[in-house]
Amino acid sequence: MVKTRKCKYQHCKEGGFVDVDEAVVDGGLHYHFQCYEKKHMKNKIFQAFCEYVTNEENGLFIKKKISDFIDKEDINPHYVYFTMYYIIKNKIPLKSIFGLAIVMKRQKVIDAYNELIDKYKDVKIQPENIDYVYKKEFKGGWRDLIG
Ligand SMILES: [Zn+2]
Repeated sequence: MVKTRKCKYQHCKEGGFVDVDEAVVDGGLHYHFQCYEKKHMKNKIFQAFCEYVTNEENGLFIKKKISDFIDKEDINPHYVYFTMYYIIKNKIPLKSIFGLAIVMKRQKVIDAYNELIDKYKDVKIQPENIDYVYKKEFKGGWRDLIG
C-alpha cells in the first residue's frame, strides 16, 4: 500500500493527494514537487514585485493576481519570475500587477526567456538553483536594486 497525504497546496492540480515517498515535506505539511515549487516561486515573485513596485495595491490583491497567473492561466511560475528579473534589469517602469501581465506578453521577453531556458536545457532547474542561474545571467543587475 502506498501511503498518501493530502497535498497542502491550495491550488493543487495533481489530484490533491501525494505519495508520502515522493512528497516534499515542509513544516510537517506534504506537497507535490510541482505544487511546492509553485508555492515557493509565488513567494519569490511577490517579494520581488513588492521590492520593486511601490503603489497602493493591497498585498493580498497582488498575491491573488500572482496566483491567477500561475493557477488559473497556467503560466509557468519560472516565466513570471523571469519577467520580474527582466523588468528590474531593464528598469522598466512598473506601476501595478497588471503591468507585469502586460510585460509577460511581450515577444521580446518570451524570446529572452526561451533563450535562457535553451542555454540551460540540460540542467534540470530546481527552485534552489534558479537564483544562481539568474544571478549568473544578470550579473549585479538584480542585486544592485534589491539589497
Ligand atoms: Zn499538489
